[in-house]
Amino acid sequence: MNEKRPTKEEIEEFMMRKPHIVILGAGASRAACPNGDKNGEILPLMNDLVEILELNQINNFNSKSKNFENIYSSLYHSNENKNLRLKIEEIVYNYFEKLEIPDQPTIYDHLVLSLRKKDVIATFNWDPLLVLAYRRNGHKFELPNLLFLHGNVEVGYCENDNISGIKKFPCNKCSKILEPTTLLYPITNKNYASNGFLSSQWNSLQYKIRSAFMITFFGYSAPRTDVRAIDLMKLAWGDLEQRKMEQIEIIDIKSDDDLHETWKPFIFSHHFEIHSNFYDSWIANHPRRTVEAYYDQYWMAKFIDNNPIPKDFSFQELWDWFEPLK
Ligand SMILES: [Zn+2]
Repeated sequence: MNEKRPTKEEIEEFMMRKPHIVILGAGASRAACPNGDKNGEILPLMNDLVEILELNQINNFNSKSKNFENIYSSLYHSNENKNLRLKIEEIVYNYFEKLEIPDQPTIYDHLVLSLRKKDVIATFNWDPLLVLAYRRNGHKFELPNLLFLHGNVEVGYCENDNISGIKKFPCNKCSKILEPTTLLYPITNKNYASNGFLSSQWNSLQYKIRSAFMITFFGYSAPRTDVRAIDLMKLAWGDLEQRKMEQIEIIDIKSDDDLHETWKPFIFSHHFEIHSNFYDSWIANHPRRTVEAYYDQYWMAKFIDNNPIPKDFSFQELWDWFEPLK
C-alpha cells in the first residue's frame, strides 16, 4: 500500500468554474511516448516525419527539405503531383491509425486525470493516444472535453447531427456509424470553417477560451503554416488588458526566449510559466485543482504546497490516489 495522499487543502478547494484549456502539439505525444508507442513505433514531429514514415521511398518523392510542413504545403499549392500527395496522405493516415498506447500509465493518462469536466484538452495531433488514454480512465472519473483541431484517426463524425465520437461507433442520435474525420494537412491559409467537424471543434475551442482562466501550450510549435490557428485562439482570448488575472503556461523543450516570443500575444505582463518537463508543470503539481490552486496562491496569497501526481503508480494506485480529488 502506498502512503502517498493528495494534500488536504487541495481536496477541499473545489469551487472555480472557469476552464483550464490545454493545447497539445506533436511534442506532447512525443513526450508521452518518448520510446515510441506500445510496439516501439515513433511518434513523429514535423521535422522527422518524412524520415520515420520513409516518405522518401515513394516514387517521384524528391524533396530536399526535411520538414513535412514545407514539403506538403508546397506540393499542395503547386498542384502538380496530385497522386503523390494522395499517396502521402494515405501513408500518413495508416501510420497514425495503427499506433497504440503503451500498457503502463503515460503522460496522457496523467494529463486527462489532472483536469475536470469543465476543462478542455484541444489537440493538433492526428495520433490516437489521447483518445486511448481518455477511454481507459473515463469510466473512473469525469474527464475534460477533448477537441481535435486537425482531425484525428480515432475520431468519427456524423455530419447530419453534428455529433462526434469514437470512429465506427454509432451516432447516438441517428445510430449511423460515425465516419472517419479528415486529417487537416499543413497548408497555409487553412479554412477551418469549410468542414463541419473542424468548424465544430474550433467553435467549441473559441467558446471555451473566452471564459478560460489558464491556457497551457504543451509541445505545440505554432508553425508558420498555421497562422490562422493562432489568430483564432488569440481572437477568443481577446485584449490582454482584460486578462490581468489569467495565466499562460508553456511546456516545451525550446529556449525560454523563443517561447516567450511565440506566445507573448497571449501573456499579460509576467503572467506565464515555462517548463521543459510535464511533471514540473502547474497541472502535474495541482491536478484537478489547477485553477483553484493558482487563484489561492497568487490572488489570495495563501501559499500552497505542491500536490504532485505520483508518476510511477499503476492504474489502480493512480485511481485510488485521485479518488478524493474527484
Ligand atoms: Zn447522426
